[in-house]
Amino acid sequence: MKVGIIGAGAAGFFMAIQVKTRCPKAEVTIYEKSSSVLAKVRVSGGGRCNLTNSFAEVVDLSHVYPRGHRQMKRWLSEFSHTDAFDWFESHGVALVTQEDQCVFPKVQDSAAVINCLTDHARRLGVKVCLKHAVQCVVRTETDQLQIQFQGQQPAALCDKVAVTIGGTPRSEAHDWLSALGHRMESPCPSLYTFAIKHSALNNLMGIVVDAVQVGIAGTKFRAEGTLLITHWGVSGPAVLRLSSYAARHLSDQGFRAPLVVSWAGDRTTEEVVETLQYLSVEHARKQLGSIRPYGLQARLWQYLLQRAELPDTRTWAELGKKALNKLATILTADTYEIEGKGTWKEEFVTCGGVSLKSVSTKTLESKCCPGLYFAGEVLDVDAVTGGFNLQAAWTMAYVAAQGICRDCE
Ligand SMILES: Cc1cc2nc3c(=O)[nH]c(=O)nc-3n(C[C@H](O)[C@H](O)[C@H](O)COP(=O)(O)OP(=O)(O)OC[C@H]3O[C@@H](n4cnc5c(N)ncnc54)[C@H](O)[C@@H]3O)c2cc1C
Repeated sequence: MKVGIIGAGAAGFFMAIQVKTRCPKAEVTIYEKSSSVLAKVRVSGGGRCNLTNSFAEVVDLSHVYPRGHRQMKRWLSEFSHTDAFDWFESHGVALVTQEDQCVFPKVQDSAAVINCLTDHARRLGVKVCLKHAVQCVVRTETDQLQIQFQGQQPAALCDKVAVTIGGTPRSEAHDWLSALGHRMESPCPSLYTFAIKHSALNNLMGIVVDAVQVGIAGTKFRAEGTLLITHWGVSGPAVLRLSSYAARHLSDQGFRAPLVVSWAGDRTTEEVVETLQYLSVEHARKQLGSIRPYGLQARLWQYLLQRAELPDTRTWAELGKKALNKLATILTADTYEIEGKGTWKEEFVTCGGVSLKSVSTKTLESKCCPGLYFAGEVLDVDAVTGGFNLQAAWTMAYVAAQGICRDCE
């Protein structure tokens, strides 16, 4: 059996290893358009590679896989985060689970993951052809699949082909896949920060607030977690999560939308009103500036009082009902205009790609082109930050490899 794998990323490498492990006689070749392998793994997790997650804090898979959670549930039952953890540890990469449940190599260097994958693939006899940019795959009269390359490279004839080309914001890159009959979900970015031009907020740069809730006004998109105020807008896990949940909506809106920040986390306005009433009685003689609810930092609290047009020297007893309600609204529904994506190059994945309707859920084989398989970000599956995207790549690669090998014994 000749297997051609297109793309030397996380999914492509892991799939090549799985196919060779299960079918040692198979001839497995990875075709990669660039001159290096596993480029994204190298930069992942800030160069440390957050390769999976303990899933200990995952209540519902839809919270971490906004697209593809149903299928991921099934695929994870075949190759889970513990399988990935055990696989890397048993292949020489000692791992550590951080307090936030993210899993990294103990040496805190993505090179450990890259060396593990490349060494193992080499030992198994996986061939890697760099600078082979695939143009398309065509089915021959003998029912084989022919991989055609851009430039002078001769075409490669295969029995099975796996497409692991990752995500791309350019939909033209997928034209050859739609020509084969696959349904495509238009690609759009996910996991980015928000640009907000608001000088008073921007002046608070560097402030990190735990447990805020952010949302897009007029929609159900909400996310919770830590928020970081920057000199050009907002960032941090809560914002990245929201950009993932609302990826398609924000893209449709040209990355402009009203952002609602609740500095009081998931507390309702009524609950916050009650807290403020309590503080008014309990600290009646103290100044507003000196008593900060919810452990808010002093600079942020001063700013929020200014937003509610309240002098910080006023006492809590003098607050009054109207001002108290205004302050509660600022604390729970402080609204800003998102004016675009942050330009800083942070973690970034693509939402969209080959529709899951075009592939068999059981094997990840194409429903339009037998013998063609998919895995990784090329499919319409993506996750929030925390190691879930790489876990999806390992899991899908494993499942597709089982499909590829089903006739080889
Ligand atoms: C900066 C950054 C940090 C990240 N950090 C993390 C993290 O810590 N944890 C996490 O879980 N996820 C992280 N991600 C996301 C994660 O890296 C990706 O989801 C994952 O790498 C996807 O794997 P893949 O194999 O599907 O695609 P890719 O890794 O993108 O690999 C696809 C490969 O296919 C090649 N290719 C494309 N088109 C062709 C063609 N026509 N012919 C031949 N080859 C082709 C590409 O050159 C590439 O090498 C990060 C992403 C970025 C950008």
